[in-house]
Amino acid sequence: MKNILAALFFAIVCVMSTYAQTGVNDDVATGKILPLYSQYIEGCYSITYDKDPNSGTGAYKFFDESDVSEFRALSANDIFAYHGKKNMDDLDKAVCVKSGQYKSDMLSFQQKRNEKFAIFTPFVYKDMPKFYGDGFAPCFDGKIRSNFKNFIEIYDIIIPIKPTCFKDNRYFFKCNDTEKLLDLRSRKDDLYFLIIVKPGAKVVKSYSVYDSKPSTYATLASPVSLYVVDGNTKETLLDLTSCLRKVNIATEKQTLESLAKKELQKGKRERGTYHKTPRIERCPTCHGSGRLSNGKRCSLCNGSGTIDNHYY
Ligand SMILES: [Zn+2]
Repeated sequence: MKNILAALFFAIVCVMSTYAQTGVNDDVATGKILPLYSQYIEGCYSITYDKDPNSGTGAYKFFDESDVSEFRALSANDIFAYHGKKNMDDLDKAVCVKSGQYKSDMLSFQQKRNEKFAIFTPFVYKDMPKFYGDGFAPCFDGKIRSNFKNFIEIYDIIIPIKPTCFKDNRYFFKCNDTEKLLDLRSRKDDLYFLIIVKPGAKVVKSYSVYDSKPSTYATLASPVSLYVVDGNTKETLLDLTSCLRKVNIATEKQTLESLAKKELQKGKRERGTYHKTPRIERCPTCHGSGRLSNGKRCSLCNGSGTIDNHYY
C-alpha cells in the first residue's frame, strides 16, 4: 500500500514538474487525471472570490483583501503601496529611499514580484454556463467589454487570453471530449476557474472626459496557467492553460492604454458642444456624495458632489 501511495505521489510530482517546464498543455481536452488543485495553489498567494453570504445575490467579495492589494501593489511596482504607506509625499519617499532598511526591502519586493498568485473565481454569475458539442461558454461577471477582447477581466484584474476563446460575443472554451463536457455540465454549480498569475503592471482603464486624466485603473496580470476545478470536491477537471496568451507586459500595457484613449476621444465627441454658462450636474465620479468608495474626498468635484458642465 505504501508503495502504491509513493508511486502515486511520484506521478503527481512528475505531472507538476512537466507543467512547470513546458508551461503549456497543447491539448485542452486530454481527459487525463489532473492533480488536486491544492497542489497547484501550494506556494501561491491566493486571491479568492466568492459570493458574499451577507450582502445577498450577485455580490462577490475578496476573501482576503490584503492579498489583492499586495498583488496590485506588486504589479504597479509600487513598494510604498506594498507596505501600505499610502499618504507619503515625494519628500517622505525620498527620505525613505535613503534609509538603511530600504535596500533590503527593495530586494524582497523584487523577489515577490516573481511569485505566483492563485485567483479562484466562481464560474456562474446570473447566467448559467452554456454547453455545446464542442465546448462551453462560461460567464465572467456577466460582461464582455468590447474594447477588452482577448482578456478575462475579474474585477479589475485583467488576464490576457487567446482570441480563439471568443465565439458569438461570448467567452468560449473548446473541448472535443463530450464525456468531459457532460461531467462539467453535471457539476455546473460547483465550477470555478483557478488562474495562476504573476504580477504584471498597473494600467489605465479609462480617462475622464472632463479633464482627460486617468480616472480608473486596472491590474494587468502575467498569466501562468488556467484550470477548471470543482470547488466542492477540490478536483482539477480541465487544463485550459493553452488558452492563455503569453504577453510582453510593457507592450500589452501600451495597447490597453491606447484603447482607453480611443474611448476617451469617443466620449469627448459624444459629450456635446461648449456653452459659456455651465450646467450644474451631479458629479459622475462620486455620484453626488463628494466621497470616493475608499472614503477619500472626490478629486473631480472637490467634495462638493456637483460639477459645472460646460458641454451639453
Ligand atoms: Zn465627485
